[in-house]
Amino acid sequence: MRAIMHVDMDAFFASVEQRDHPDLRGRPVVVGGSSQRGVVAAASYEARKFGIRSAMPAAVARKLCPEAIFVKGRHAHYRAVSAGVFECFARITDCIEGISIDEAYLDLSQQVHTQADMLAIGRQLKQTISSELGLSASVGMAGSKLVAKLASDYDKPDGLIWIPDEAVQRFLDPMPVSRLPGVGPSTASKLHDIGILTIGQLRLSPLELLTPALGNHAVAYQARAAGLDDRAVKSERKRRSISQETTLNEELHTLDDIERIIHQQAGQCAERLLQKGLFARTVHLKLRSAGFSTLTRSRTLDAAMRDPERITKPVIELARAWARYQTRISVRLIGVGVSGLVQHPDRDDLL
Ligand SMILES: [Mg+2]
Repeated sequence: MRAIMHVDMDAFFASVEQRDHPDLRGRPVVVGGSSQRGVVAAASYEARKFGIRSAMPAAVARKLCPEAIFVKGRHAHYRAVSAGVFECFARITDCIEGISIDEAYLDLSQQVHTQADMLAIGRQLKQTISSELGLSASVGMAGSKLVAKLASDYDKPDGLIWIPDEAVQRFLDPMPVSRLPGVGPSTASKLHDIGILTIGQLRLSPLELLTPALGNHAVAYQARAAGLDDRAVKSERKRRSISQETTLNEELHTLDDIERIIHQQAGQCAERLLQKGLFARTVHLKLRSAGFSTLTRSRTLDAAMRDPERITKPVIELARAWARYQTRISVRLIGVGVSGLVQHPDRDDLL
């Protein structure tokens, strides 16, 4: 059985800002566009209610919703958070095709045998992303990339949906034809001119009707309208992060004990960077408490590095900053990771 999952983070940049700044939660937040000529990079769902969309000029967004809060984008931070999201994907499969900073296809054909398996994996992934990163994702699953992507979008935000092969036509047919990947505004308007408004109408139209509008591509468009798509998930074999994790037999109650393990793990990460000829731009710390709440913190370094001491120090600082606000320390899992991997410390060739 072919099982493809499309995962898309919900309003990613805006959600990260709302997660990090509780005063922004529940309010219309626009990332980017702080200058008069800027454009909107992302809008929270509260802002979308006013019609604000990404790529819209900031001036238009301001008119639509004068009370919207404009936040400057923190792209290095979003990249670090994204590395954490992709790390969650990597626990399920190696076959991951990243489409953008907050979107990927996963091929789960090897591990999935029934629809129940697939839904369980999707639910678990959403749960992991929510508990570890405090973010929500929409997950669409199907036998093809085409349908999986339309599915994740259909059930947004916080969605989880599986479209079995036998339901594909029922799912696609009522959608506006412009939703079909590859149908841009000009193709859509040609189709509208010949009376084709939905994907179902495109699928069922005689080829003679379509050819004048679509030319040689008519057959390909019709196949797409029927949900036929055998494109493979192209996993980039490139490594995005390196991490070490230890689940403890007994909970640790002192910062000293935690720091000892961090030293060990950070040393191992540095060792593996050296073996692979890589340098890291970002360090991550993960701590799970006895109550199973998981905290992840990351810090972007001034420069890419792999020196054990310089990798360890910022992680220790993250742990100390965390400990300062704990009334009682009780930790049962510790993880240290590095991401933003580059081959040269002073060049911008992110892997
Ligand atoms: Mg998204």
